[in-house]
Amino acid sequence: MSLFDDQRQQHTILEATRHAALEFLNSLASRPAGRAPHLMSHDVLPEDGLGAQRALATFRAKYEALLSASPGPRYLGFVTGGSTPAALAGDWLVSTYDQNVGSDGDSIATTVERETLGLLRSLFGLPDLFEGAFVTGATMANFVALATARQWAAARLGIDVSEQGLWRLPPLPVFGGSPHASVIKALSMLGMGRQVVESIPLLPGRMAVDPTALEARLAVLDGMPAIVVASAGEVNTGDFDDLERLSALCKRYGSWLHVDGAFGLFAACDPARAHLLRGLDAADSITADGHKWLNVPYDSGFVFTRHLDLHQQVFKVTAAYLGDDSDLSHRTPEDSRRFRALPAWMTLMAYGRSGYREVVARCCSLAQQLGQDIERSPHFELLAPVRLNIVCFALRNADAMRRDRFLSNVKEDGRILLTPTFFAEKPAIRAAFANWSTRKEDSAVILEALEDGTER
Ligand SMILES: *Cc1c(COP(=O)(O)O)cnc(C)c1O
Repeated sequence: MSLFDDQRQQHTILEATRHAALEFLNSLASRPAGRAPHLMSHDVLPEDGLGAQRALATFRAKYEALLSASPGPRYLGFVTGGSTPAALAGDWLVSTYDQNVGSDGDSIATTVERETLGLLRSLFGLPDLFEGAFVTGATMANFVALATARQWAAARLGIDVSEQGLWRLPPLPVFGGSPHASVIKALSMLGMGRQVVESIPLLPGRMAVDPTALEARLAVLDGMPAIVVASAGEVNTGDFDDLERLSALCKRYGSWLHVDGAFGLFAACDPARAHLLRGLDAADSITADGHKWLNVPYDSGFVFTRHLDLHQQVFKVTAAYLGDDSDLSHRTPEDSRRFRALPAWMTLMAYGRSGYREVVARCCSLAQQLGQDIERSPHFELLAPVRLNIVCFALRNADAMRRDRFLSNVKEDGRILLTPTFFAEKPAIRAAFANWSTRKEDSAVILEALEDGTER
């Protein structure tokens, strides 16, 4: 099959793709929310290709039935959402337009990316002094933010890490209460080391850091610049560090405040929950995810910082053939990059502030409902108050093995998908609501699937 044959068939190929996409979307309500992968034989690289239409048909025949409904309404695993109709349309066009936002000046795409960062700033209520960048997700946003924090801390000790590396530095103190695993991974990638993080005690019964304990640590630093990693939306319970207290402490002791708000930053969309983020605007750097509560397809996260100069010192890319200092490529680990602002632009323009207020409020009220249902159930026990969109609970009197058996029953049943965790050393279960399409009617199905899972 020649590529030019496929080019002549472009219309038919895209029609078949559209058809496949619609069939998949229409299956979401009935497709299992998760499924264990099957063992199957691998295809080999064909000497002569099949052409796009037969490749598509082959993929669909072999794999499509085994894909999960993770973008559907009852996937409650990680805090990932689905794709809004506008975001999906935008994402299709990202591939079609295939613009490289790695350099300014050849296409309007980079302008749209800047504009979209502005829309997000407005959605989150961030002052204009925060400059942003699009990355692939919150892990990379944390990586970029902590690299910038490292640059700041080292500069305070007279070293430009970007130029000279870490070689002459003592370990830079990093403090956190319950930092996300991706923060630890980022510290490994940054050469700072996973072990550099010092866990600060949490408030009793909470996943939020004890500010008094943090202050005790900051007070004895003796001029060492420290990085404080705060959680705005802790992944097990949706708890929030007290950003107002933490930002005041960081100001007082001259520390860097990084806020990981991968999903929790979206509390800003709902006036009833925006108070959880009080103090956010004093942060030095902020992480948020697009492929969680914004409900754009995967491969979307954002980082904001008020220190663009330091940020660009780390990520600047200079070569005779590249553009000037204002390019967005001086803000990201990648050089060539997809136009990932477009799905975000599309969904923000399509649904606006009130659309996101509604999505966030609905997800939170569904989580509240499940929390109440669990409190009433004889089989389950609520482990933490539902503060946002995550319900953390346990199967009564179950050890980790029984909990896992229950979760695999539930997965096999397929109506919902939940993920395991530990809370206060108890084998626990978490249900996260972040999908725009989950409705009130789903509450009863979710509860029924949970109760049924205890019977097998
Ligand atoms: C999901 C999550 C991350 C990591 O995000 P990815 O998009 O999976 O890279 C980081 N921090 C928090 C709080 C999260 O919930």
